[in-house]
Amino acid sequence: MKAFRCGDVVPGCSREFLGTDRDDILAQVVAHGRGEHRIELDEGLVALVEANLRDAPDPGP
Ligand SMILES: [Zn+2]
Repeated sequence: MKAFRCGDVVPGCSREFLGTDRDDILAQVVAHGRGEHRIELDEGLVALVEANLRDAPDPGP
């Protein structure tokens, strides 16, 4: 699993994301960016998200 904290890129945002992989996280972040921040993720932002991805433990069966 991967985890990402929006506040690492957008100061003040406390939203956290958990996903199975990079693409899963990115899909959630794209939707969140549009809905909450009115921004479209460009290449630079995608790179920032990737740089701040953390490994998260699998949730078990
Ligand atoms: Zn956010």
